[in-house]
Amino acid sequence: MSARALALVVAIILACAAALALAVHDSAFDLWAFDRMAAYSLAQPVPKLARSNELAVLLVGTGSPLPDRTRAGPCTLIAAGERLFVIDSGIASSRNLLLWRVPLNHVAAILLTHFHSDHIAELGELRLQTWVAGRKSPLPVYGPPGVDEVVDGFNRAYAFDASYRTAHHGAVMLPPGAVALVPHPVVIGTTPTATVLRSNGLVITAIRVHHDPAKPAYGYRFDFGGRSVTVSGDTAPDMDLARAAIGSDVLVHEALSPQLVAILRDEMLAHGRARAAKIMGDIPAYHTSPTDAARIANIAKVHLLVFTHIIPMLPNFIAERAFLVGVGDVRKRGVVLGHDGMIFRLPAGSNAIVRDQLD
Ligand SMILES: [Zn+2]
Ligand SMILES: [Zn+2]
Repeated sequence: MSARALALVVAIILACAAALALAVHDSAFDLWAFDRMAAYSLAQPVPKLARSNELAVLLVGTGSPLPDRTRAGPCTLIAAGERLFVIDSGIASSRNLLLWRVPLNHVAAILLTHFHSDHIAELGELRLQTWVAGRKSPLPVYGPPGVDEVVDGFNRAYAFDASYRTAHHGAVMLPPGAVALVPHPVVIGTTPTATVLRSNGLVITAIRVHHDPAKPAYGYRFDFGGRSVTVSGDTAPDMDLARAAIGSDVLVHEALSPQLVAILRDEMLAHGRARAAKIMGDIPAYHTSPTDAARIANIAKVHLLVFTHIIPMLPNFIAERAFLVGVGDVRKRGVVLGHDGMIFRLPAGSNAIVRDQLD
């Protein structure tokens, strides 16, 4: 049977089942149907983010502080074999991780790029969900100096919650000694980079970027299995970042379209939204345009540039096209507009970049 015919048969069966459900409207039927749905859902395998020698990057949240129905707040996950590293924790990013059944007990550390609210919003939720998933020891959180204050605040804010859950489910299930986040300030001196971690073939490097007055702000580079990914964090166009990303396979770079933001600002003013318009006028200075990010990707000679932290919101393909205006003139190929759930796998010993989508 052809795929088309099979799809038609499945559609007919589903339509008949729906009609039957409406016609019968029987509680026993509804419970049976719910059981079948639960069984189907729970039979789905946990996604394998990366093989043991593989580096992978998953776009968990590609949005910004601006509300976007299809994009969670900033969050990027790096898988180095079994070990998972979460960079930033924006609004709704934990929900994406849970919906995709990412094995959160394998999160080895969190890395914060800076302390704007959109990047730390769900630190408490990530603390909780990794613990509920089976994390057995405190979780390191790396970040610029100041990370200790941020992390201590979340630990304090979520202390009651953790105590209730241990009391409810038991200390074997949720050991109180494991729940805490542990801050690790990363100091970058006179050079633009510093090593964060060197462990079992993985090297993580922090890169100082420029996002004043959020200072210092970092990007991060991951090297594993001969492959490399660099994540920009929030930054104005930054040559230190370009240099630090040289040799990376993938550059995940933030991007703000000045043209689209200017249009939004003008329309906000025209519609009496002066406060929002003022913010729109202020933000381009400390972000990077898509064309400038393309220039940085070219300088770094990366194979793939992936846009994230998309500003403004892009509600349809026409807006997406407008966002990318001019990028093709700077960089002919190797550009992807990021969406939540995109994953790029980088197998060791090859130049391949294998793209997939979690949903
Ligand atoms: Zn920021
Ligand atoms: Zn941001």
